[in-house]
Amino acid sequence: MSELIAFIGVGNMGNPMAENLIKAGKKVRVYDVSKEMINKAKEKKFDIANNIDDLLTGSVSTVITMLPAGKHSKEVYLGKEGIINKVSKDCLLIDCSTIDIKTSVEIGTTAKEKGIKMIDAPVSGGIMGAKNATLTFLVGGSKDAFDLAKPLLEIMGKNIFHAGELGCGNGAKICNNMALGISMIGASEALMLAKRLNIDIKKVHEIMKNASGNSWPISVYPPLPGLKEGVPSNNKYRPGFSAGMMSKDLKLAIECAEEVKANTPLGSNANNIYDKFCKEGNSNKDFSAISKVVGGDAWDYEIDD
Ligand code: NAD
Repeated sequence: MSELIAFIGVGNMGNPMAENLIKAGKKVRVYDVSKEMINKAKEKKFDIANNIDDLLTGSVSTVITMLPAGKHSKEVYLGKEGIINKVSKDCLLIDCSTIDIKTSVEIGTTAKEKGIKMIDAPVSGGIMGAKNATLTFLVGGSKDAFDLAKPLLEIMGKNIFHAGELGCGNGAKICNNMALGISMIGASEALMLAKRLNIDIKKVHEIMKNASGNSWPISVYPPLPGLKEGVPSNNKYRPGFSAGMMSKDLKLAIECAEEVKANTPLGSNANNIYDKFCKEGNSNKDFSAISKVVGGDAWDYEIDD
């Protein structure tokens, strides 16, 4: 079986993920609908396809997708030009996009009916995790498909979890991101309160990192500038992980919660806060820019327009 990997969606996450596969000696061909992203791929000298047929020329052993949302995954796999009708039975399909469980199961089941192995494998760890190959993969699908995919996922990530059957990867990811959305607002509230109390934010940040108020947004991805190198808050809140993506994930969480009658009051609040922020034109800012909402007139940092 040829080792050619077709990679669709080389945006903020897909680009460094594809790069790590190439660095590990894999033959990778990429495709994206965005000219901007293709130009970035050209800078890194990726092998670039002009369209899906071009991408799937030759014998492709694996397709990896890293797309924004369920509608994009559905179009790419099951649409008019859907790859599900274009790949061979021994091609493994890996959708790393964070999408709704229903679409994830629908795509995976269609693949299964055609005898094609597929997993949903959304990731946690952000662009730094993608660049450093330290992503956590949350996999849904059969044990066979998981075992087949694992060596490739290990090139791009550090922790590879088999969460359960098809759709469970996305289910686990949706739960994780609901907690992340809530904790990013919590971290922002704490740091902005410190600012209004005239306590040195750097000191409060250092204290929280070593105290019970620590969280991923505090230690890895602080929502205010000057606390950690290389995070979006230090780069005028350019994403990173966009507020639009977080809003999408919180909506998915609330839909799931309603369906199974789970009580998620903080998740609902976080969903409303991000939804409003996005409707005010901030979808393309990093999700840590939610600190602006929390900070009000005390928030005086640089943000990209
Ligand atoms: P992104 O918007 O930067 O990249 C997605 C890419 O998919 C874009 O370049 C877009 O042009 C491309 N695309 C869309 N439709 C396409 C199609 N039909 N054919 C080919 N290409 C297409 O998004 P991202 O930040 O890389 O996120 C991708 C996924 O990963 C999302 O589901 C997101 O929720 C998830 N995720 C992102 C992060 C993060 O920190 N950015 C972290 C964890 C998970």
